[in-house]
Parts: sequence; structure tokens; C-alpha cells
Amino acid sequence: MDIKENDSKLFTPGPLTTSLTVKQAMLHDLGSRDTVFLNIVAYVRSKIIELADASADEYAVVLIQGSGSYAVEATFSSCVPRQDAKVLLIENGAYGQRLVKICRALNIPHDVLSFHETERVHVDQVVEALKSNQYTHVAVIHCETSSGILNPIEEIGQLVYEHGAKKGSTVFIVDSISGFGGIPVSLRNGQITYLISSANKCIEGVPGFAFVISKKQHLLSCQGYARSLVLDLYDQYIYMEQSQQFRFTPPTHAILAFKRGLDELDEEGGIQARAKRYQTNNKCIREIMKSLGFIELIKPEYQTYIITSYHYPPAPFHFETFYKKLSEKNQLIYPGKTTKTDCFRIGNIGRLFQTDMEKLAECIKQVCNDMNIELPLKNNNNQ
Ligand SMILES: *Cc1c(COP(=O)(O)O)cnc(C)c1O
Repeated sequence: MDIKENDSKLFTPGPLTTSLTVKQAMLHDLGSRDTVFLNIVAYVRSKIIELADASADEYAVVLIQGSGSYAVEATFSSCVPRQDAKVLLIENGAYGQRLVKICRALNIPHDVLSFHETERVHVDQVVEALKSNQYTHVAVIHCETSSGILNPIEEIGQLVYEHGAKKGSTVFIVDSISGFGGIPVSLRNGQITYLISSANKCIEGVPGFAFVISKKQHLLSCQGYARSLVLDLYDQYIYMEQSQQFRFTPPTHAILAFKRGLDELDEEGGIQARAKRYQTNNKCIREIMKSLGFIELIKPEYQTYIITSYHYPPAPFHFETFYKKLSEKNQLIYPGKTTKTDCFRIGNIGRLFQTDMEKLAECIKQVCNDMNIELPLKNNNNQ
């Protein structure tokens, strides 16, 4: 089977297109207690610390089986005490709303600070919310992949740090699942307590596990908090520190792929170089789409270079047909994930290059032609 020929390109928020070599790295069966595997786990954990520009004295990485949401749920489950805790959840889209669902499911007391799904988190309103001094934990999404908005986590981190009776005592949780590895972050100033990401986003590995870059001092204070056996970040951490092993069957193949993904990130020139490729991809598709008359959902100043949301062309427009015709050309785009507007999304992370974006644009033109959608779009009254 020619893998390259048959696979579609994934212009999605994840899982993403991976390199052939990342896929090939999985062609080994490793024992979960074998030294080869344990050394790879140790390497992966320390490499993530490095990529986060975090001090290895201050932070440790906990790997957890499952997708990104499992790690988010594990973090809330494990790091919020059963008593005397209240979480401020800042949300401006579907992934932020998932934090709310998680806290509801876990019965964690929380308030929600909501912004419109096309608005960035406004820090002045965060300041207002923090003034009440009632929050022990604050959580926010870094890149809101549902729309493509980039939230100002550094500014929010500074505010959270300053808030509260004792500086730095408020726990700050960041879901950077779609940002980490593609958008540079630094945990050097210690303001983020937990930063969550997963194997199959900007590191360009395959799905199977997620990880939480955790402030050791805080995590070590969380023994017995977990509302779940398997999603217990504290226990997973202690066990992993002692043995480099997962508590339950580890995703051995996904770890191998991830290790290869980390090597390829290095070969590319690190996060800065990867960010540059994603920016080039993003600029390329956005310029072409603009020339075709497609209208973006998000204001350019709020927009990340990870994924872009587009209004549907003027009615009648049938997204399912558009999607299907593109998929027949091996181009997989994604439906919108906003509630108030009809949108579709084009992601540009994963093993994608400018030529892939140009090919996608060519296919979009052909499909529009097939569907009798006249380009450039006129009277785009669907916004
Ligand atoms: C992908 C993603 C997640 C995790 O979603 P899963 O379906 O669990 O992989 C969480 N938050 C953000 C911002 C994401 O982009």
C-alpha cells in the first residue's frame, strides 16, 4: 500500500496529517516495562519541559492516556481540593465551554466568565472578576480552536499571579492543546501552574495520550484530591517519577511516534521554525480565500495562525456537498464549531506546507465551479 498516495490531507484541528516517518516509527512492539521504552518516556518528558521553556526544578511533565480532554479532566479532577475551592472559568468558545462541562461533571464549584465566540477574552473583565478575591483556580483556553481566536494567556497569567491574598497562590490552568509546539510559550516566570497539551496537535504525533506540564510544588500538594481513579494526575505523576511507567497500559506506539515527532521538530529548527511554517501556511490560504471572496469569522487582530473560520458563501450553500466534493479530492476540511454563525474551518497545522495550502485552494475553486458557486463571491450577505 502506498500510504502517501492514499491518505487525504487533513486541514482540521486534529488529529492531523503526520509525516510518513512518524507513522513508520510505530512499527515496533515495545514492552511497557522494557528499558528502551522507559528511556523514551523519560526523554519525552524532559523534552517537553525544554519546549515549554520551563525550569526542570520547578515543573514536571505527566503523561496521561487518552485525548486532550482526558488530560483537562484529569487536571481539574486532581488539582482542585474537595473543600474551599472555587474555579473561575474564562470561556469564549466550545473548548472553553468544555471546561465548564468538566467542572459540572466533577461537581467543582465554579463561576463562568463568558465572552462572545468571536471575541477575544477581555482582560479588563478578568480583572473585575478577580477583584472579588474568591477564586482559588482560574482556567482559560490558549488557542480557541473552535473559532481560531488566540487568547492573551500571558496577560491573564500576570493578573492571576497578582490576585489573591498571597501572590502566586492562585492556580492558573491553561489548555494550550492546539497551541503548544506551534505557538511559543514560556513557563519561565512560573505564572502557569498547569499547561495542558496532547500528542496529536502541533508536535505532529498521533493520538493516544496527552500531557500536563505541572508545577511540582502544587501537584505534590494534591494527594487524594482526585475524583477519578484513572484520571488521577497526582498518582500518575508519583508512579511515573518512580518508574517512568504509566499506571495502566501505556500507548507505546503513540509514544514512539511522538518521539519521532519531537526529533522532526528539532530538525525543522524548533518551535520558532514550526511557528513560521504554520504562519506561512495560514497566510497563504487566507490570502487566496480572501481573493475568492470568502469572509473570515474572526477579526484579524484576534486570529491565530492555527486554524481559520469562514462564513458560508451566500445561500444556497450546502456544506455537506462542499465537504464531500473536497474529500473526494483528498482534502479534508472541517465544519464550524461556532453556535451562532454557519461556518467552516480550515486548519493549517500538522505536516502541511505552502504547496498543500495552494493545492487545497485549487480544489476549493474546482468544487465551487462544480457547485455553480460563482467566484469571487459577491454580495456575501451571510455574515
Ligand atoms: C483538540 C483540543 C482539545 C482536545 O480535544 P480532544 O477531542 O479531547 O482531543 C482541547 N482543547 C483544545 C483547545 C483543542 O484544540
